[in-house]
Amino acid sequence: IISKRLETIARYCPQGARVADIGSDHALLASYLLVRGIASFVIAGELNEGPYQAALRQIQTLALRERASVRKGDGLSVLRPGEVDAVCIAGMGGQLIVSILAAGADKLEGVRRLILQPNVGEELVRRWLLENGWQLVAESILEEDGIIYEILVAERGEPAKPYEGKERSLEELLRIGPFLWEEKSPILLKKWRQERDKWQRVLSQLQQSRKPEAAERTRQIEAELEWLDEVI
Ligand code: SAM
Repeated sequence: IISKRLETIARYCPQGARVADIGSDHALLASYLLVRGIASFVIAGELNEGPYQAALRQIQTLALRERASVRKGDGLSVLRPGEVDAVCIAGMGGQLIVSILAAGADKLEGVRRLILQPNVGEELVRRWLLENGWQLVAESILEEDGIIYEILVAERGEPAKPYEGKERSLEELLRIGPFLWEEKSPILLKKWRQERDKWQRVLSQLQQSRKPEAAERTRQIEAELEWLDEVI
């Protein structure tokens, strides 16, 4: 049994694909993909010794362990070009996900699909995809144990396409997510309401401050709140 978050990520892995899970921790996703017959071969990549050992132990428990490779190393450096069809990177900040993708661009040759789940900084990931030839093809938002997660799925194609012909600007859609915006699920609205409440609290604190820079900051936050009110 795995989390709803990992299960949703798994659903975006193409049937029969060779899949790399980078930053796999205990290799739970990689194991699930094999056991469920979704992936034909998995690579679990880990930078740190503890999780790497945990991944090795986990994979050893599987009957299908011949179809798995656990590798220690930084980001995509554990891959050889052409070795996998899909790459998952989940449970890290958007900034880290982007730096892993950017550092390993040559390893992405032959990769058809990226499945990314940034914990924060989704906007950075969408922007990187847009600027690097990857077209967002699906997005998912879900809540588990009180935390809201976004999953971004991309393939090579026309990166600007999902942002075209929408009533929101490119910059706005990079923040919200073009597919999520279209779907407008209650979880998406909840996420942005929480964001608004957070800025509202910061604003009330600022309004009690006498520091000279507080006035400028107040104006910025008011503009942000105005945008959030309009969006949700
Ligand atoms: N992907 C799993 C998930 O979503 O449940 C685990 C997420 S865990 C919070 C992040 C993992 O990424 C940690 O095990 C960490 O050691 C690993 N990690 C961090 N930076 C990495 C990098 N540059 N390359 C490979 N793994 C990395």
